[in-house]
Amino acid sequence: MPSDCLFCRIIAGELPAAQVYSDDSVVAIRDIAPRAPTHILLLSRKHIASVREVGPEDHELIGKIFAAGAELARREGVATDGYRLVVNTGRNGGQTVDHLHVHLLGGRPMAWPPG
Ligand code: 5GP
Ligand code: ZN
Repeated sequence: MPSDCLFCRIIAGELPAAQVYSDDSVVAIRDIAPRAPTHILLLSRKHIASVREVGPEDHELIGKIFAAGAELARREGVATDGYRLVVNTGRNGGQTVDHLHVHLLGGRPMAWPPG
């Protein structure tokens, strides 16, 4: 694990976070600066810098992250009205933390296209 990675440190318990879900592949926390009534980050337990670094060995992991997102959307009560799963990637994608994560945003209508 990269010792300077913010999300690796949260997963390791070295830094605090409001954890809402955990399994052998995924840790989910509430975003520290929520952009919607529900704003959860689904973190890969494995350090992968971004979607650009995902390999064939990670395909099951990616499926588990999305399945956890769908389950958490149900638990949060936003599944029926709908929600958004977002993976910002690289500079133009607006990624600010270089550890693979999926945003679960819900509880309000989402604009399209995103800014
Ligand atoms: P990105 O911009 O890389 O797609 O998403 C990073 C997200 O992590 C942002 O929405 C930001 O608010 C969130 N974030 C940054 N630092 C922390 C932190 O220390 N704790 C939590 N829970 N979220 C964080
Ligand atoms: Zn990391």
